Amino acid sequence: MLNGIGNMAWLGAATLFILSLRGLSHPASARRGNLYGVTGMVIAVLATLLVTGGEGLQIALIAALVGGGLGAILARRVEMTQMPQLVAVLHSFVGLAATLIAFANFLSPKVAMSGVERAIHDTEIYVGAFIGTVTFSGSIVAFLKLQGTVSGKPLVLPARHLLNAVVLGACIVLGYRFVSAPDGGDALYALIVMCVLAAALGVHLVMAIGGADMPVVVSMLNSYSGWAAAATGFMLDNDLLVTTGALVGSSGAILSYIMCRAMNRSFVSVILGGFGAVSATASASPQGEVVATSVDEVGSLLRDAQEVVIVPGYGMAVAQAQGTISEITRRLRALGIRVRFGIHPVAGRLPGHMNVLLAEAKVPYDIVLEMDEINEDFTSTDVVLVIGANDIVNPGAQEDAGSPIAGMPVLEVWKARTVVVSKRSMATGYAGVDNPLFYKDNTRMLFGDAKGSVDALLRQLEAA
Ligand code: NDP
Repeated sequence: MLNGIGNMAWLGAATLFILSLRGLSHPASARRGNLYGVTGMVIAVLATLLVTGGEGLQIALIAALVGGGLGAILARRVEMTQMPQLVAVLHSFVGLAATLIAFANFLSPKVAMSGVERAIHDTEIYVGAFIGTVTFSGSIVAFLKLQGTVSGKPLVLPARHLLNAVVLGACIVLGYRFVSAPDGGDALYALIVMCVLAAALGVHLVMAIGGADMPVVVSMLNSYSGWAAAATGFMLDNDLLVTTGALVGSSGAILSYIMCRAMNRSFVSVILGGFGAVSATASASPQGEVVATSVDEVGSLLRDAQEVVIVPGYGMAVAQAQGTISEITRRLRALGIRVRFGIHPVAGRLPGHMNVLLAEAKVPYDIVLEMDEINEDFTSTDVVLVIGANDIVNPGAQEDAGSPIAGMPVLEVWKARTVVVSKRSMATGYAGVDNPLFYKDNTRMLFGDAKGSVDALLRQLEAA
């Protein structure tokens, strides 16, 4: 009876998770999607406690309180710009949990098994520990790279793919020993050695990936964490965990694939740690003169325009300039000027970063366009306002084969009549490459903190 109710509840929770993913695919329905996810999770936890007959209820409650409390404090403290690091750390927790559960399952099995049944269960334990450990160590390195503690440059060891293959081969051999060993020391030894190797593999896979490809790594680790959870579900014979893990695993993989396409990177190359990645040759230094502009000049450029496109980037998030940008948009539209936003898939520091900020600032969704939707319209645009964006508007990606971002599709803002770039200095962006856009004849640099610049611009527009 209890099991029946539990299964029904799990089915309901799994359905809510699917609805949640669907809702999260668009800003307008994201809030509802989140609500579905939270409801599904509450049902899942309650049903699990019900099915297990409240066994370990006290420990579960204490763990939920401590974990939930820490999570709430961290989530409140973390800045929007530090989200990718937070996500990377959370993935590492999932990986670590999968590995620890695998060890717990091996060291104190709930039911004695033998023959094929045991071999299957041992394989689940081994695979769970393997994926969990790769996810754990890979996510820690991703965190350190995003935080800037470890350099964003790819680590290119000689024969690195051979090295990965050898480590993977050793893990498979150890897996055979683990499954076929009689109880006790030998199997435990194989499991521990595999975990050390898997940890090294996770570190190496992520170290080999360059800073500019980090967005894909974050979503790929998201996918790995899903598969780690699914493996744990098999170990614990928990259907809901299998379903949820598979949902996270596959949606993360699809997102990674979409991002790879958006950045013109090979999916396989990123999964295998920079496989076949071209190492950047010396890229050309930009030529030309940098022309600085003023708030007054930008104000009159905007007032004289009919078509304006705003391209936000990481700097807008740092400066928290989205609220004023939204006001400027309203003001310009009131003057009869058509204003739209162009969003690059990896603008900012996490997928959807700009969409979230603009939605928060109440910019209407229908004027926020994806890169593919707006790229052809730049030739007929009067003014492009680039706010704290750099790599995503770098023409070097198309013109300079030696650039680390060569081949990455970019917003072709330089095709507009005038481009105004708001940033503090001539400093490079995340990928660390110079930007020839700043030296083009039709580019004007509006130097200064983006918030200060757009606040002054809004005052100027309102005064006129
Ligand atoms: P970039 O990092 O290329 O450039 C941001 C620019 O903002 C900098 O050049 C900086 O110049 C400027 N800036 C910083 N603070 C301010 C401020 N307060 N006011 C005004 N300007 C400021 O950002 P993009 O959004 O163009 O590109 C995103 C990059 O991040 C890509 O390389 C992408 O691969 C990478 N990335 C993306 C992730 C994602 O999922 N979206 C995750 C991880 C990495 P200055 O210092 O002169 O002000």
